[in-house]
Amino acid sequence: MAIVQVALPIPMRKLFDYFANDVTPGCRVLVEFGNRPLVGIVIGEVANASVDTEKLKSVSEVIDEQPVFDESMLALGRWLADYLHHSLGDTLFTMLPAALRRNEANKPQTVTVLALTELGCEQLSQSMRAKQQQALLSMLAEQRYPLEQVREQFSRSIVKACIDKHWVETIEQPVASQQNWRTKITIQNRPVANPEQAIAISTIVAQQHHFMPFLLEGITGSGKTEVYLQAIESVLLSGKQVLVLVPEIGLTPQTVKRFEARFGIEIGVLHSGLNDNQRMRVWQQAKAGSLGLVIGTRSAVFTPFKQLGMLIVDEEHDESYKQQDGARYHARDVAVMRAKRDDVPLILGSATPSLESLNNALHHKYHLLHLRQRTGGAIPAQQRLLDIRGLSLTYGIAEPLLEKMTTHLHAGGQVLIFVNRRGFSPSLVCHQCGHVEQCKHCDSPFTVHKALSRLHCHRCDNRKRLPRYCTACGSQELLFQGVGTEQLEEGLKGLFLESNVVRVDSDSVRGKDKLEGLIDDINHNKYQILIGTQILSKGHHFPRVSLVVVLDVDGGLFSADVRGAEKLAQLITQLSGRAGRESSNGEMWLQTHHPEHPLLQDLVNNGYQHFARHALSERKAAHAPPFSQQIVIRAEARDSQQVHEFLDFAKLSLTPSSDIQVIGPLPAAVFKRGGRFRMLLVLQSSQRSKLHNALRSQLHIIEQSPLANRVRWAVDVAPTDLS
Ligand code: ADP
Ligand code: ZN
Ligand code: ZN
Repeated sequence: MAIVQVALPIPMRKLFDYFANDVTPGCRVLVEFGNRPLVGIVIGEVANASVDTEKLKSVSEVIDEQPVFDESMLALGRWLADYLHHSLGDTLFTMLPAALRRNEANKPQTVTVLALTELGCEQLSQSMRAKQQQALLSMLAEQRYPLEQVREQFSRSIVKACIDKHWVETIEQPVASQQNWRTKITIQNRPVANPEQAIAISTIVAQQHHFMPFLLEGITGSGKTEVYLQAIESVLLSGKQVLVLVPEIGLTPQTVKRFEARFGIEIGVLHSGLNDNQRMRVWQQAKAGSLGLVIGTRSAVFTPFKQLGMLIVDEEHDESYKQQDGARYHARDVAVMRAKRDDVPLILGSATPSLESLNNALHHKYHLLHLRQRTGGAIPAQQRLLDIRGLSLTYGIAEPLLEKMTTHLHAGGQVLIFVNRRGFSPSLVCHQCGHVEQCKHCDSPFTVHKALSRLHCHRCDNRKRLPRYCTACGSQELLFQGVGTEQLEEGLKGLFLESNVVRVDSDSVRGKDKLEGLIDDINHNKYQILIGTQILSKGHHFPRVSLVVVLDVDGGLFSADVRGAEKLAQLITQLSGRAGRESSNGEMWLQTHHPEHPLLQDLVNNGYQHFARHALSERKAAHAPPFSQQIVIRAEARDSQQVHEFLDFAKLSLTPSSDIQVIGPLPAAVFKRGGRFRMLLVLQSSQRSKLHNALRSQLHIIEQSPLANRVRWAVDVAPTDLS
């Protein structure tokens, strides 16, 4: 019997040996590990076992006949696990659809179809009184139809009647492995590209057959999606498949419809709202080559393809591409590596590129493409700063801006107000003694949700009833301090009686359909005043919005996060892209106590492009990312002493050198959450390989220390924040 190495979904960074016969690498097997059964992935054969062969077990079962990881995806997994310093087994499991992480066969998914029976055929030749039933029979006489599709046209009772009379039967049919999307493509409603788009498209198409990363830097509304569409067209027509990644919030039915409408073929869609079977279906179809185009969020980057021809990452700066637990991959990094390995082009697109990608483009690692004009010639919203020092604020809005709101509303425009706090107000304070109600698990103030009459901790989800008395001194004089979306909504409803106010935040929007509906209503002018958080800054088009107000930009200016300024600038720029997109001239006002701040001045006067290049030079001077590489070891436990000891031990093992700095242990930006204390050790170097090698050589020592079992810890490569 041969000995195979198996990767198991456990934190340990090693492979395990088992006896097995004739198992292809990439297949799943069931093995006994400790005393429990685990699903594992066969990595390959070895000549000699790493332990005594007496102790070696045989695999209990070979689950797959065909590998779930082909050679190329397995190699990608190995690279990723190595890069993330994460267990290979856990990394590979992250790449698989959930259904395949269990001991379940990878058998083709089926769909229920309706077919006409012989009896049904006979029936059809006679004249029928039930016209609907007759219509169904004639439809099925032509071909079988999926039940789902039939239900769109015929009521449940009609379908049931035909089945009960044995005219129609249901059949479980494997999801057709149709390869015929290639012949079905019909290009519809393609606009003529403007000159900048034409240059971008032809540059990309000219490099279509090998690896070439592009950074498409195009202001909002400049027609980036149109560039993707025409580049995709060229790849699809060459018979190859395309993967498009979008941020979670960007994957709306509208987006999918736009792609479907252009190519007239079925599109595989992957997002967090799908069940395991739906996911698996897309996974199988893409792997079999029967889908031309897959659009999905972060984890879709692991979709296997038969013949991938291009990758696109839309809104490449978006933070949702970084996984923040388990294997902490960044979908953009994985996309770059996939494109390289598969030797295909990659388009990273954004109006506000991340400084990482911009830096790569400025150093000619990526090919930079520009779209500087809005399509249709609409003028971008004019950004202005409002110095609110000493001004009186009503629900957080300064008087001059309330007047502006009135003017815009009278002129028929919509107003968008951005506030980054949900709830009614960010804290509840006692007017007598100053006590602030805090979550005891996180030592942070409770957010007041007045409508629900409760306090809610946004860090750990802890909730309690809104108290009527101060818990410290018993006074009844409790003040809501600061303005959240809920308060703004209530206040503006009272101030602008003739306008309809809508709040769009994660409390008011549960589920994508709801958001979709709200956006539709907004665009049909059902609401004139829109209050929202981050959700509103992402990707949606609000052609009627002519005024945008940002209540508070100062939080982003003075943030401990090195990326604080970058994130703020991205937010402001994305928001201003929502205004005046079509014909109306938009204006945007930023309320601040620091109007002279150089960052704000640069952004407002010179725009994101200028700001970003300036910010890069500051990062360079400070040796901050992307000019240095970071790896963070994160640890947390209920006992802060243990966290400290563990990270101290890690620090000792990682001897600092002139090339590598080890900073910490530091408290995380959110030091306490859900009763656990959280700390970080930051490793930093200007040389990526030295940094990785230093950690790699010591990680097994850290991993095996007894302290390592007492805390929860993880390695985070290229962290996007230190919270
Ligand atoms: P972005 O992705 O940069 O936000 P879109 O591709 O969505 O921009 O384009 C914005 C709007 O302009 C869309 O309604 C799109 O249909 C339209 N558009 C884009 N390119 C063209 C073009 N060349 N001719 C006409 N309309 C266009
Ligand atoms: Zn809490
Ligand atoms: Zn009090």
